[in-house]
Amino acid sequence: MRTRHRARRPGDPGLGRRKCATGRRAGLTALSAHRLGLAAVSEGQASGRRIPVVDYLVLDGDDTHAGPHLVAQACTSCGALFFDRRNACARCGKTGFAAKPLATTGVVRSFTVVSRAAPGVPVPYVSSVVELDGGGVVKANIVDAGSDPEKFDLGMAVKLTTFPCGVDAEGTEAVAFGFTPA
Ligand SMILES: [Zn+2]
Repeated sequence: MRTRHRARRPGDPGLGRRKCATGRRAGLTALSAHRLGLAAVSEGQASGRRIPVVDYLVLDGDDTHAGPHLVAQACTSCGALFFDRRNACARCGKTGFAAKPLATTGVVRSFTVVSRAAPGVPVPYVSSVVELDGGGVVKANIVDAGSDPEKFDLGMAVKLTTFPCGVDAEGTEAVAFGFTPA
């Protein structure tokens, strides 16, 4: 008998879908799912507890940020920036890293309007690559800005935003990030 569930391969799926893995388990609201380009599941009741959907999204402010921001792992040898844990630097091969908070503003280096997706994923949505001011390049959707390609330009200024993308049975809210025009 065939099983309907396929084993999850290491490294799969890609960033866009990993981004809200927690939220997808918990249940996405339709609006949040649309912002992420993901399928909506259901809505839940928030308890006040919030967790980011990726480790490199920090919801609280720090010395230089008033609120949510991204934190990269910076190679202590060459300064190359990475998200998520690395065993070694892809640029120089050294193994030392230190957390580095990144700017919440940047510019669009690449974008595409996605009109084709897995069943249940609302389209179109805008997937982009954002180069943050001061360093760091991150893939994320541009949200709350429609999907008309004429409204987007390479080099346009954007800023980080966060939004709830799901609530689990205990009321814990998963928080995802995207960018909006600055
Ligand atoms: Zn390095």
